[in-house]
Amino acid sequence: NQPVLDVSQLKTYFYLGENRVAKAVDNISFSIFPGETVALVGESGSGKSITALSIMQLINKPGRIVDGTITMNDQKLLELKPKQMTNIRGNDIAMIFQEPMTALNPVYTIGSQITEILRKHKKMNKKDAHQEAIELLKVVGIPRPKEILKEYPHQLSGGMRQRVMIAMAISCEPQLLIADEPTTALDVTIQAQILDLMAEMQKKFQMSLLLITHDLGVVYEYTDRVMVMYGGQIVEQAATKELLKLTKHPYTQGLLASLPNLDEDVERLGTIKGTVPPAYSFPHGCRFSSRCPYVMEKCTQSNPELREYDTGHFVRCYLYENGGSIK
Ligand code: SF4
Ligand code: MG
Repeated sequence: NQPVLDVSQLKTYFYLGENRVAKAVDNISFSIFPGETVALVGESGSGKSITALSIMQLINKPGRIVDGTITMNDQKLLELKPKQMTNIRGNDIAMIFQEPMTALNPVYTIGSQITEILRKHKKMNKKDAHQEAIELLKVVGIPRPKEILKEYPHQLSGGMRQRVMIAMAISCEPQLLIADEPTTALDVTIQAQILDLMAEMQKKFQMSLLLITHDLGVVYEYTDRVMVMYGGQIVEQAATKELLKLTKHPYTQGLLASLPNLDEDVERLGTIKGTVPPAYSFPHGCRFSSRCPYVMEKCTQSNPELREYDTGHFVRCYLYENGGSIK
């Protein structure tokens, strides 16, 4: 089974001057398989968005991808010319963001923005592109598509704007859709509708989906596999059910504990104290050691490796070194 996307030993650093280097993404590796929905979870500042932007090669100065490979269908994306990468971004990988207003151009109508993509990437003429735009808006559940095409982004609600973004993302039938906190800016009821729509589109177009979220609550229903990120690294990775039931990493446990409405018979940590340290001053050793309730002496001396403890269940933590578990 060939992965759609393979990321290997990726490092994306930001050179902040005065010898400060923010290791926002620091040696992460993962694959995404056809039709799979993978969650990338962590607090803000953990490196999730930088991972996504690295895949898209949308990292700006002072940031730079300093090492690693990103492979899609046997193509090494980091070796492509900018123009080839622009093609990949339109046709093979699409991305939607938390705030659609930042991705939509406020001075153009919805219609001109969708038809521009179709004309550019699918080489459609004006008339066909207009017709296809109407179809796309129908597919993503937008009522009165003909009228909406004439409107400007600010005339739509946040939920409708996100539907438009999804329509634009799927317009070229990408193999991979990356959604970075796609519902964080929306009302709770609209959030579920947008997640349902993405799941529906994912099946319909047989895409793989990388869902970036700070909310472990949404992963249960929508994802097959979860990667938990902290301090620019993956600290736990497993099939979704396994990860939620047999949570190993203290950080993941803390994220789960801060969720409302979980069964009360499971013993939990309190909410994690403190905040993610800035990426230019991670603590020595395990990057979670400054907040971990289980911190041991060796945790402050060296950073544990990400190791597979059960089939497909990877953890970066010394507590499990001898097959042990948290009491
Ligand atoms: Fe906590 Fe140590 Fe495990 Fe890091 S390695 S998560 S500090 S117990
Ligand atoms: Mg982010």
